[in-house]
Amino acid sequence: MARRRQLYEGKAKVLFEGPEPGTLVQYFKDDATAFNNQKKDVITGKGVLNNRMSEYLMERVGQIGIPTHFIKRLNMREQLVREVEIIPLEVVVRNVAAGQISQRLGIAEGTQLPRSIVEYYLKADELGDPLLAEEHVTAFGWATPQELDEILSYALRINDFLTGLFLGIGLKLIDFKLEFGRYWEEEEMRIVLADELSPDNMRLWDAQTDEKMDKDRFRRDMGGVREAYQEVARRLGILPEEVQAEAAAEMGQAPKSVH
Ligand code: UDP
Repeated sequence: MARRRQLYEGKAKVLFEGPEPGTLVQYFKDDATAFNNQKKDVITGKGVLNNRMSEYLMERVGQIGIPTHFIKRLNMREQLVREVEIIPLEVVVRNVAAGQISQRLGIAEGTQLPRSIVEYYLKADELGDPLLAEEHVTAFGWATPQELDEILSYALRINDFLTGLFLGIGLKLIDFKLEFGRYWEEEEMRIVLADELSPDNMRLWDAQTDEKMDKDRFRRDMGGVREAYQEVARRLGILPEEVQAEAAAEMGQAPKSVH
């Protein structure tokens, strides 16, 4: 296949021109970064796992009526997505205190929040992604009040759905980050879920032990990052065959039959 033109390289993904106008190819790298790019490493196999997990979760979220940019997975590391105009906000939904909210407000990590809290951060690495009030979002025109209403409603529906989905496989959804984009269908503008849904962007704790199964293992040098991501994929029932075979080989076992 001819090499595609690269349009953008982010910290964990690269975007290439898609095969048709209005489409992009989203490539998942193995790179991991944290603390605004100050900490970097390569987690072998992470891109493959996140591509597969994001495919699965985007499709599930799509099934409950949330429009997403996801079209189809192309191969181990690439998926075809709709080209959207990214709204420059990181939309964070929190169920349990962890990370920034614990630090900023002095709430012990692991404290159940009185209700789900949705926060908006500006996507601006050079400013360290500052926390915004809704007033900032609408006054500076990053999103209109109507768009923000829709984003909030989607974010809460996604939270309800994913909380249940993960609880069913013994994982607590502590918090997660979403990104949305604008997509024009004929003359109509639609807000769609973009970016990715994976343990890079969410905190997942084992429901029994509270063991961390997400990127905090990388941020906090806990080790076992790939194993944790693999375990999430395994519980979702979607561990990619290649990863399964590799893991079995490492354990000195024959790979399970592929199907
Ligand atoms: N998050 C993310 N990208 C960011 C910042 C946060 O995906 O640039 C996710 C993070 O993985 C977590 C949630 O958003 O699941 C809330 O993160 P928090 O605001 O607590 O920031 P952190 O502690 O990760 O700096």
